[in-house]
Amino acid sequence: MDLSLSPQDLAFRDEVRDFLDHNLSEDLREAGRKTGGVFADIAAGVRWHKVLAKRGWSAPSWPKEHGGTGWSATERYIFARECTMADAPRIFSMGLRMVGPVIMRYGTPEQKAKYLPSIVAGDSVFCQGYSEPGSGSDLASLRTRAVRDGDDYVIDGTKIWTTGAHVADRMFCLVRTSTEGKPQDGISFVLIDSMTTPGLTVKPILTLAGDHEVNQVFFDNVRTPVANRIGPENAGWSVAKYLLEFERGGDAYTPNLHARLEDIRRIAREEAADGSGRLIEERSFAERLAEAEMDIQALEMIEMQVLSDLSKGRNPGAVSSSMKIRGSETLQKIDHLGVEALGWYAAPFEPEARLIGHNEPTVTPEAGLTAMPLYLNNRASTIYAGSNEIQRNIIAKAMLGL
Ligand SMILES: Cc1cc2nc3c(=O)[nH]c(=O)nc-3n(C[C@H](O)[C@H](O)[C@H](O)COP(=O)(O)OP(=O)(O)OC[C@H]3O[C@@H](n4cnc5c(N)ncnc54)[C@H](O)[C@@H]3O)c2cc1C
Repeated sequence: MDLSLSPQDLAFRDEVRDFLDHNLSEDLREAGRKTGGVFADIAAGVRWHKVLAKRGWSAPSWPKEHGGTGWSATERYIFARECTMADAPRIFSMGLRMVGPVIMRYGTPEQKAKYLPSIVAGDSVFCQGYSEPGSGSDLASLRTRAVRDGDDYVIDGTKIWTTGAHVADRMFCLVRTSTEGKPQDGISFVLIDSMTTPGLTVKPILTLAGDHEVNQVFFDNVRTPVANRIGPENAGWSVAKYLLEFERGGDAYTPNLHARLEDIRRIAREEAADGSGRLIEERSFAERLAEAEMDIQALEMIEMQVLSDLSKGRNPGAVSSSMKIRGSETLQKIDHLGVEALGWYAAPFEPEARLIGHNEPTVTPEAGLTAMPLYLNNRASTIYAGSNEIQRNIIAKAMLGL
């Protein structure tokens, strides 16, 4: 595959750089640099989303008719790479990456008109209500019930590990609408229009690194209109699976991985090795840096293929599972190298120093503030979006026919 940039691509890259120079404020860059988990400070991500929306650039993978950019795969890749290099905060993208494509495919014209523009504008922040205690990998066993009452569903049960439920204003949710037949056949996909709907409670779960990203959500007679169901009743399983392909494969992993590896190289050039000289000159460390670089380049090839499929209107399919496996494993490898490169400087626990605007002296250099939180929080990357073991099962079945 030829990844060299054409003169048009280079002009596009310069246009993006110019935009970032003038519109990505220093506090948003600081939020990007201080990302210690999956997302940057979510509120900062929403602010950046709105800046991009004003320029018409908030939905790189969406078709133009729904407010997207209509960019080619290469343009999307360039955009993601430039944003990462400029330290833009990662956008909390469950609307753009997950429920948006689902509404485009399965939504009614009314649902498209109601939700898609507000997702593009950054006015609607969705969270994902799939997993439940006891129903993660075996998602079809989910028990949160929705019973019809007039024009509403009345929902009872609980969802867990709900990322960003404490900052979201809407939720997409899998609920059980029938107990007849196979478990997959009794599930519906519904939207909840407000996280302050009576009966809905959000309780925080702190991660290993001490951050608040995930939650447990409780439903006690929560009402949502039947009109908020996406797709037919009891056909939510197909909708849910379609969404998961985008969750696993709809984003470019490698710009972030390249940037992280470059940071580690910089640290290794400055840090002393155990014996003498600099860490970058130590053979075993240099070899592992080279290995990580090769992993990223290999992933980049799969990624370009998926982005190219998406820009032609095709959904990613099972290749998104291999992307998810390679992306998460490479990420963890890089996290490990990052902690190792910093040595003791990765150890101090200074969560307040990751707040935007913090200007007190810190024990560690800036890279040290995020190395350990990233290492700890990204342990989850081989679990969320469907664990890597489950992705291997999907590849075995869908790609290898086993
Ligand atoms: C940080 C984080 C954020 C998350 N965010 C969200 C969110 O926003 N919304 C949401 O709905 N969910 C979210 N999740 C939940 C996530 O999707 C589940 O944790 C995941 O699907 C695994 O389910 P489980 O935790 O119940 O583990 P289990 O399903 O109990 O799995 C335990 C272990 O057994 C293995 N295993 C299970 N079944 C098989 C099998 N058939 N073959 C081989 N191995 C198997 C798994 O790979 C895993 O190692 C999040 C999770 C984390 C950690």
